[in-house]
Amino acid sequence: MTRPLVALAFLLFSGSVLCQQAEAGEACANPEGALGVARIVEIDTKAGPLFGEFTKYEKEPRFLGPKEVVLTFDDGPMPRYTKPILDALDAFCTKATFFYVGRMAMAYPDMVKEVMGRGHTVGTHTWSHPMNLPRQGLSRAKDQIERGFAAVALAAGRPIAPFFRFPGLSDSRPMLAYLQERGIAAFTVDVVSNDSYISSPSRLVKRTLDQIERQNGGIVLFHDIKASTAKALPTILAELKKRGYKIVHLRPKSTFEPLPDFTAELEAKLAKKGGKDAEDKPGLVPFYAAIIPTTLEADSEPAVVELAPEARERMHKSDASARATATPLSTTEDPKPVRTRKRHRKAKVSKSEQPVTSLGVAVSGQY
Ligand SMILES: [Zn+2]
Repeated sequence: MTRPLVALAFLLFSGSVLCQQAEAGEACANPEGALGVARIVEIDTKAGPLFGEFTKYEKEPRFLGPKEVVLTFDDGPMPRYTKPILDALDAFCTKATFFYVGRMAMAYPDMVKEVMGRGHTVGTHTWSHPMNLPRQGLSRAKDQIERGFAAVALAAGRPIAPFFRFPGLSDSRPMLAYLQERGIAAFTVDVVSNDSYISSPSRLVKRTLDQIERQNGGIVLFHDIKASTAKALPTILAELKKRGYKIVHLRPKSTFEPLPDFTAELEAKLAKKGGKDAEDKPGLVPFYAAIIPTTLEADSEPAVVELAPEARERMHKSDASARATATPLSTTEDPKPVRTRKRHRKAKVSKSEQPVTSLGVAVSGQY
């Protein structure tokens, strides 16, 4: 491309970005011109539901319709990348869910406040992101989970969602049972953007869109600690709009109550650090309270669907299907006796659905 053409392309591109940004403010009230939020799913987490495809345990039925997408970002916050990601989401008048690491949140409390202040949902992703959580034993896992929630809520300066994602999507039955006990919803994913491994924004755009098309939407995993994600996101959002995808925003029906001991311990650490969050708190609380209603009133809000899954035992998926197909004779020979507690509702899994149970399978290109 010759130099004048490059300049022209740049001007056109900047113009369209500016235009999108200018529209964003107005379009949020009238989102035809932007990707927007098609509907809000408000989740009642008290039974500890499990959502998303990437788990070997029995999960809730998919709540997204065809071409519906939930945007999620893990591992942050990291201002250098979180800020442009927030700007891109704002430019398209859309909302996402951030699963934050406790230690990161304590390092960048103002960033957590800004994410929530801009209307996004914040859940957690443990205290320090150990990749081998299932092998650490339940008491250490509980510490990671509780400390993570306490830290992110403290950094936010207000209650956060009882939403959790396991590092590396490595869940286990005892940990899932603990989340149920604490009324926490666990989210795996349906679509892996693979941004942890793709440094080229254009390749990331292609890979993400291919996977979304293949799954016909779903819960998409990104990381707001990656340069490629920040660079690729505007194009991904523009393409989603162009291809007729709709964004679904997740919200909790009620917020999480961290254990006071963890909060006290971390509060002391944060105070020692001399963060200015305590001063920011009063100003931000009323603003945020206006964005996270537990009851929905306004006509300007997108449609809201409440999801209140019932309690269920987290059967291993293979146990569950074995049980479903077993004859009475084989059931008696089953070396793993089936627990007697009744499941209230059975997951609706389509016959053609190929179970995806590990991140390894996903990133190897099969998904
Ligand atoms: Zn992670």
